[in-house]
Amino acid sequence: SSVSTPIRATLFPGDGIGPEIADSVKQQQRMDNVRFFFGVFKTAQVPIEWEEHYVGDQIDPRTQSFLTWESLESVRRNKVGLKGPMATPIGKGHRSLNLTLRKELNLYANVRPCYSLPGYKTRYDNVDLITIRENTEGEYSGLEHQVVRGVVESLKIITRQASLRVAEYAFHYAKAHGRERVSAIHKANIMQKTDGLFLKCCREVAEKYPEITYEEVVIDNCCMMLVKNPAAFDVLVMPNLYGDIISDLCAGLVGGLGLTPSCNIGEGGIALAEAVHGSAPDIAGKNLANPTALLLSGVTMLRHLELNDQAEKIQNAILNTIAEGKYRTADLGGSSTTSDFTNAICDRL
Ligand code: NAD
Repeated sequence: SSVSTPIRATLFPGDGIGPEIADSVKQQQRMDNVRFFFGVFKTAQVPIEWEEHYVGDQIDPRTQSFLTWESLESVRRNKVGLKGPMATPIGKGHRSLNLTLRKELNLYANVRPCYSLPGYKTRYDNVDLITIRENTEGEYSGLEHQVVRGVVESLKIITRQASLRVAEYAFHYAKAHGRERVSAIHKANIMQKTDGLFLKCCREVAEKYPEITYEEVVIDNCCMMLVKNPAAFDVLVMPNLYGDIISDLCAGLVGGLGLTPSCNIGEGGIALAEAVHGSAPDIAGKNLANPTALLLSGVTMLRHLELNDQAEKIQNAILNTIAEGKYRTADLGGSSTTSDFTNAICDRL
């Protein structure tokens, strides 16, 4: 109950570049040959105590995955966490790591803020939108089979329960963040039953939020509008596959995967923040990765915890470092290492 009691949060450093970019975030000292560096959260004196969990090298029979039951329990207990990218080892008899997390923790909505970074020039400087992706069903239900040789079938599952839940979250988010409009993205003209049900649920929820403008946009038209004038959108909510694609498109509008954070919202108020990108095996272990996406995901987590001052401070330090242009990683056209860029942010803090 005391102000100084640290908040416990789960940290999955993950695979590939995961441990390197997690070092940028966490409160742990590490030798960089020449000097110590402390990580951005430590420098900003964020009152968080990380419970670190690594992906195991053996399948835990309780989860049927390389993720242990204890690591899932840690998220359930803390209700808040930060996750690096996870590469699922190829092989039989286990579940994908990300799928395990989504299913076991019921992470039903993936929220991806996407905004132009001041000082990092792309084609647009006025992007400020939020994509909210249904995360548990749709085309990613994993129900595929061969009917006869040469013919396969994949089931797209849309349920009223999951659609209402994600729509409710989208409107709630819009209201809580002073947003004015929610656009439901769909292809209900063709997918009449599935996307039709998704839209019906969005409409029902929209009626409860008369102060928020509600509109429906067909996915193909949405893509055209996004690349032509991304400022035309505010909050977008959509089924799983569309959300996967549209949110990467949005990342491209503001500078790429090294920059974009996300947060998974789960049952019972769980928030598991994660970078949008994968484990980047091509640059792993070389101190080259851009930690911005994971750091900004951490900022999302802090905002969820209402640690708004620290969130603001860290976000400004990151954005100002990028804007100054002296320290940038290779994906942004610079030549800084992960640790140089991290140190530059810490110096600013
Ligand atoms: P990826 O995102 O790992 O890499 C795509 C490209 O972007 C690569 O050239 C990479 O170097 C670059 N990149 C990504 N993040 C970067 C960063 N922070 N800084 C600088 N450059 C960055 O996608 P991929 O190669 O398709 O996937 C690799 C592995 O990651 C696969 O095993 C995949 O399953 C997994 N993956 C996991 C997640 C997740 O855990 N949420 C998401 C996507 C992919």
